[in-house]
Amino acid sequence: MKDLSKEIIKFAEQKGADLVGIVDISKINFPKGHHPTGYLSGAKSAISIACSLNKGGILNLPTSRNSYMLEFNLANRKLNLINHQVGRFLEEKGYLALGVPGTASIGDAKRLAADLSHKHIAVAAGLGKFGLNNLVITPEYGPRVRFTTIITTAELEPTNYEVEQVCNECLQCVKECPTNALDDWEDNYTSQEGWRMDKERCYHKIFVKLGGNRCGICIKACPFTD
Ligand code: SF4
Ligand code: SF4
Repeated sequence: MKDLSKEIIKFAEQKGADLVGIVDISKINFPKGHHPTGYLSGAKSAISIACSLNKGGILNLPTSRNSYMLEFNLANRKLNLINHQVGRFLEEKGYLALGVPGTASIGDAKRLAADLSHKHIAVAAGLGKFGLNNLVITPEYGPRVRFTTIITTAELEPTNYEVEQVCNECLQCVKECPTNALDDWEDNYTSQEGWRMDKERCYHKIFVKLGGNRCGICIKACPFTD
């Protein structure tokens, strides 16, 4: 459904999305227990939407933590609203839509992960590729973006954007991470799948040291943030 896909992309952009991509979920290997059809019976497609964060609050971390959190929270709220609006758009056309929030799963916030991996769906949609910091590095905004996902029963035309790898393996994020959570990237990282970084170290920094505020140093460190 090429026309409907174009309409959705245009609609989401009009609502404030910076990047929009679409994937055919039958073409993606989801981890066990996290397949979209487990959340929405009959799901066929996933729509990935990104909103960028302003630079100032990131580039001046850690002193600008409050500004960064303002950006982080506003981006998530904006994404969740666009998610709802795109879902309504689809349901008015007779399909079902299920939104996956832009923030971590509400039921298990310390998992620091959504029920579906927004990042893997964004990469599959061609919005960017993983960097060594295990974030999606987009050509337009570097890692300075947040994502949300909508699953739908509509069989949409995938975007399949051809995107070059942006991360140049400069190692700045690895060097500046205050917890050394990114040290073991070698032999583990791929730009299509990301990698199993040491999330426990990262969680400890965020939930124990920063009381739930986000760290953001591996975004600041990336030359593509600027
Ligand atoms: S958020 Fe902070 S602690 Fe976590 S990987 Fe990035 S720089 Fe390291
Ligand atoms: S800081 Fe360098 S190594 Fe890390 S994600 Fe950005 S470009 Fe890649």
